Amino acid sequence: MRGMGAAQPAKIPPEAGKSRAARAAGRKAGLPCGARLGHGLIMPHDHADPDHAQAHLPSDPALRVKALETLLERKGLIDPAALDAIIDTYAHKIGPQNGARVVAKAWRDPDFARALDEDATAVCAELGFYGRQGEHVVALRNTPDCHNMVVCTLCSCYPWPLLGIPPGWYKSDAYRSRAVREPRKVLAEFGVALAPDQSVRVWDSTAEIRYLVIPMRPEGTEGWDEEALAALVTRDSMIGTGLARTPQ
Ligand code: FE
Repeated sequence: MRGMGAAQPAKIPPEAGKSRAARAAGRKAGLPCGARLGHGLIMPHDHADPDHAQAHLPSDPALRVKALETLLERKGLIDPAALDAIIDTYAHKIGPQNGARVVAKAWRDPDFARALDEDATAVCAELGFYGRQGEHVVALRNTPDCHNMVVCTLCSCYPWPLLGIPPGWYKSDAYRSRAVREPRKVLAEFGVALAPDQSVRVWDSTAEIRYLVIPMRPEGTEGWDEEALAALVTRDSMIGTGLARTPQ
């Protein structure tokens, strides 16, 4: 596990600021990682040939995705119905509601929480939460002494079966670099103020390990059932950039 104390600035991988596509472009050009061409990093859209297909793609990411989708459909390389099914699955069936169930169970049942500490992958799989991007899950329990926060400094590794698709900010260069450099400041920007004596531990996701933060159970929820407790668990609280909601 690669937990990093907030007091020790974590070393950010040299490729942290580059997208997979940019790294692939660099490799294709036979350049070492982080190599620069002229004044900027090599980017796939920096193609000099105006007739190249990429030169016609719009700059806005959403439009680029739509343009690529249309091209792939026209070429018969993707099935729109299959794409719709995937989008529907991640929009409605897989998402933070799954992780929230795990957290609510852990709050209610100490034996479940202990099992989660020992083998979160197996426990989540028993609940049906397994699959791509969730092959090796580690649960991180927040305590009054320690607040956990998750990042992927290299790209956007995230426990999809438990939290769905990562939010845009999770993939941003700013979050990926600042989360390890100045976690308290980042947390403050998310509206999270921690007690001065509560340490922050930042966990760097990898292709192998995905983390699920178990936020602290809010006070005043004694005797609540699982459904009511799960409603207090936000996506951000399971990344560590938020806290569980307090009962109204
Ligand atoms: Fe990643």
